[in-house]
Amino acid sequence: MSEAFIPLASPDIREEDIEEVVKVLRTGNLVQGKSVYEFEQKVCNYLGVSNCIAVTNGTATMHLTLKALGIREGDEVIVPALSYIATANVVELVGGTPVFVDTDPFSFNIDVKQIEGRITTRTKAVIAVHEFGLAADILAIKKICDDHGVILIEDAACALGAMEQGKYAGSIGLAGSFSFHPRKAITSGEGGAIVTNNKKLANELRSLRNHGIDAGRADTMDFVMAGFNCRMTDFQAALLVSQFKRLEDILQTKQQIADRYLSEIKNTKVVLPRVPETKRHSWQTFYVLLDESLDQKACIARMKEMGIGTNYGAQCIPAQSYYLQKYKLNSQQEYPNAFRAYTQGLAIPLYEKLSDAQIDQIIKAVNSL
Ligand SMILES: *Cc1c(COP(=O)(O)O)cnc(C)c1O
Repeated sequence: MSEAFIPLASPDIREEDIEEVVKVLRTGNLVQGKSVYEFEQKVCNYLGVSNCIAVTNGTATMHLTLKALGIREGDEVIVPALSYIATANVVELVGGTPVFVDTDPFSFNIDVKQIEGRITTRTKAVIAVHEFGLAADILAIKKICDDHGVILIEDAACALGAMEQGKYAGSIGLAGSFSFHPRKAITSGEGGAIVTNNKKLANELRSLRNHGIDAGRADTMDFVMAGFNCRMTDFQAALLVSQFKRLEDILQTKQQIADRYLSEIKNTKVVLPRVPETKRHSWQTFYVLLDESLDQKACIARMKEMGIGTNYGAQCIPAQSYYLQKYKLNSQQEYPNAFRAYTQGLAIPLYEKLSDAQIDQIIKAVNSL
C-alpha cells in the first residue's frame, strides 16, 4: 500500500476559520474594516508593541517601510546573503543598494561579527532576518546599529512568536515585518504586517498602504503623498484572527515535532540545526545541512521517491541571476556559509497536521540518506 505524499508545507485551515471568513463575506464590508483592526490589535497585544499595520503581503511590509524611511538611490542597506529573495529585492525596488553579509554556519542568521565591517557613510539601515524562524542575535545587532546611527529593520516573516532573551522577534528594531503566506505559522493566503513603536513611522505606513491618505486625520479625506494600495481584505484578516487564537498551540506542536527530529535523526551525514538556550525557535522551517558526500538535488529526488516533499530553504541572494549580473560577487568565496546553506541544505516537512506515522516516515527517510 502506498501512503499519501507528504508535502513540504501544508496550512492548517479549520472549519471554524472558514466560518469566520464567511461571516465577513456576508457583511459586505470586505476591505480594511473591523477584522483588520481587530487583527492589528491582537498582534500589538501579543508582541507588546504600540502599532501594527496590516498589508497585502510580507514583501510590501518592507517595501513600504523603506519608502517611509526615505531610503533611495545612493543609500546602502545591509542584508544577509542567505534569505528569501524579497529581503534584498525591496532595497532594489526603492533604488538602494543591498550590501550582503555572510551568515553563521549553524544558525543560518546574519553573522553579527561581520556587520560593522560593512557599515559605510552611506549605510542607512540593516535588515536582520530571523531565518527559518530562529531569532537572530538581534540585541547585539541593535547595539551595533545604535552605535553607528543606522536603522534596524527586522524581517520576521518566518518568526511570529520566536524570541531572543525573552523578547519577541520583530519587536526590537524600529520596524518588524511579518508574512502570512501559506508557508508561515498563520496564513491569509497572501498577507503581511509591520509593527513599530514609532508613531510617526506608523502613520506614514498607514498613508502609504492606502494611496497616500492623511492617516492622522479621521475628519477629512486628504491625500498627502503618492501612496500604494496595499490594504488587506477583511476576510483575510478574519482568517488570521481565527488562527491567531491557536498560535501558541501551533508553536508548541511544531516544537514537539522538532524535538523528535532533533533526537531521532541520527544520520551522521546530516547536520541538525542548533538552538541556543537564549532563543525560542518558531520552526517555520526545519533546515538540515547535508555533508559533502550527499548531493542536494539527489537527496530531494530520493526523498520524493520515499513520498516526502523537501527542498532547499532560502536563496543565496548574490548568486541569483539578477544580483550576479548587477554586482558580480563570487558567492562561493565571499559568502561561503550562505552559499553552502543554499546548495547543501534541505528543508524537511514540519507542520501541525503531520501525524505521528508521517513523522516516523520522515525520520526514517532522512536517516536512510
Ligand atoms: C516569506 C518571506 C518573505 C516574503 O513574504 P511574502 O508574504 O511572501 O511577500 C520575506 N522574507 C522572508 C525571510 C520570508 O521568509
